[in-house]
Amino acid sequence: MKYVIIIPDGCSDQPIEQLGNQTPLQAAKVPNMDRVAAAGLVGRTDNVPLHFPAGSEVANMTLFGYDPNLYFTGRAPIEAAAQGIQLGAFDWAIRCNLVTIVDQIMVDFTADHISSTEAAELLSSFKGIVADSSFEFVPGVSYRNLLIYRGGSSAESPFNEDTRTRAPHDLTDLPVVDDYPRGPGSDLLVDLMQKCQTVLGSHEINLERVAAGKKPATNTWLWGQGRSPSLPSFADRFAIRGAMITAVDLLRGLAALMGWDRIEVAGATGYLDTNYAGKGQAAVEALDRYDIVCVHVEATDEASHEGRFDEKVKALERIDEHIVGPVMEKLSTFDAYRMLILPDHPTPCSTKKHSHGMVPLTVCGRGIASSGLVYSEAVAEESNLAFANGWEMMPAFIGQENWPKDS
Ligand SMILES: [Zn+2]
Repeated sequence: MKYVIIIPDGCSDQPIEQLGNQTPLQAAKVPNMDRVAAAGLVGRTDNVPLHFPAGSEVANMTLFGYDPNLYFTGRAPIEAAAQGIQLGAFDWAIRCNLVTIVDQIMVDFTADHISSTEAAELLSSFKGIVADSSFEFVPGVSYRNLLIYRGGSSAESPFNEDTRTRAPHDLTDLPVVDDYPRGPGSDLLVDLMQKCQTVLGSHEINLERVAAGKKPATNTWLWGQGRSPSLPSFADRFAIRGAMITAVDLLRGLAALMGWDRIEVAGATGYLDTNYAGKGQAAVEALDRYDIVCVHVEATDEASHEGRFDEKVKALERIDEHIVGPVMEKLSTFDAYRMLILPDHPTPCSTKKHSHGMVPLTVCGRGIASSGLVYSEAVAEESNLAFANGWEMMPAFIGQENWPKDS
């Protein structure tokens, strides 16, 4: 049996007036997704329990069948896994954004999409301020960098579950004064943030950026802290071998933690201009070698964050044509398969933010009844196939002979 999961990140949305009161998913011409829906079922699932922030980190963990109440420890340790950073039992990973704060307002959580080269140079200039050798700044991609705390063999960590931080993308255009880290160990984090601010204030790279009309990286913003999560491997749980195709460190990290291989595709950008056809082709080829293949596309989420519903429609159409189509064709050459399409969480273009709530899914293949429906939020809303606990969906997708069992 072969399994494919396609995740158009944040594709779930609300009706938009300019689209004739349709959602982007309804407005998009997605014949291949509709073929999956007609041949199979449409339902819905909730990937983010209300007490977690609505974001890809919890949503995707849930989607792959891991209860975040048991396994989620923070965003940064998942990204650390993507970079191959080993975390010991008492180590912590902390996300270190380079940001632009002006007059205590979060003007840009990306520091104007600072380049990775500039970011690496800025981070290396922080070496002098880390008096405590337990801390290490690790450059990543663009504004997305990490701070690693090495606890060694000591269980006495300055941080714990009560350490509170805020995601900087939730603070855009808002005052940050009340949102610095709080709770256990926060004094260490705030102290580092202040020292970084001093270094950044007079840094040559920032002077050059300002001269070039770009926003400077005025501050670091520390958040998303956590210890390494210990996920039972996907193969141990389901006895199948998986591969992930994504341009995003969060999904790469999740794949690493689940014990999946990662397939890198040239031109996969995590943005609207990503190489859709390359991803589709990579999935087709991977199906000869793996039992389960996941293709994650960030473009739909990025379009939503920018409020560009027309671009969201286009991204969905490209996913449909270049990924869903070729993958379905390939799947039909195997004796048995199951195909699943769903976003991780909703990202309405109207709010430009991730939100809680059910997302529509469609699934077809071996043992799944045919509904004759199309794939949309509205159809999903009417369905009695619903997972209030999103982590129960994956065992159903892989485990059950007939799905749903009582159909
Ligand atoms: Zn997402």
